Amino acid sequence: MQSQQCEKCGFFSEKNEKKFEAFLCPFCLKFSPNEEDKFKSYVSEKVDKSFLSSFRRGLFYLEEGKKEGMARVVQSGRIVSRAPFGYKFYGKKLVPADNFREVEEIFENFLNEKISLRQLSKKHKLSVNGLKKILTNFTYLGKVKFNKSIFQGEHQQIISSTLFNHVQDKLENLKLI
Ligand SMILES: [Zn+2]
Repeated sequence: MQSQQCEKCGFFSEKNEKKFEAFLCPFCLKFSPNEEDKFKSYVSEKVDKSFLSSFRRGLFYLEEGKKEGMARVVQSGRIVSRAPFGYKFYGKKLVPADNFREVEEIFENFLNEKISLRQLSKKHKLSVNGLKKILTNFTYLGKVKFNKSIFQGEHQQIISSTLFNHVQDKLENLKLI
């Protein structure tokens, strides 16, 4: 059988299977949604296969019936698709980038100033959607999100939980999310 590349993480394997016209590795397949729309956006969110390698071993444990194995690997929290605004990769580690203070500035501006998302996005040369992603990104709390679950990451937190939570409240109150 021919080896196929996973369209989400790029992992080559003969075990990759096709779903909705896309080849996925066993790991990405396991977490993939069953509705076609959700599936497509899931596949379009690319993940670096090197970050999935520990998860892949976890999946093996899971199949062996050792769920703690999976929980442990997931908790090691080394899974990020690409460095979010304010971070960069140093080897495989996510570290604060030169502009990391700008993230706090964005959160503070949004919380304390009467400024629309559009104005704020222009000020920081971002798209409105990019800005929304920043304002709701758990990565800044030192957490990682994979498949709707939030785990403790290994990288540095650059926004306080208080600031982050206040921003989430304001976003919700203004019905922006
Ligand atoms: Zn994959």
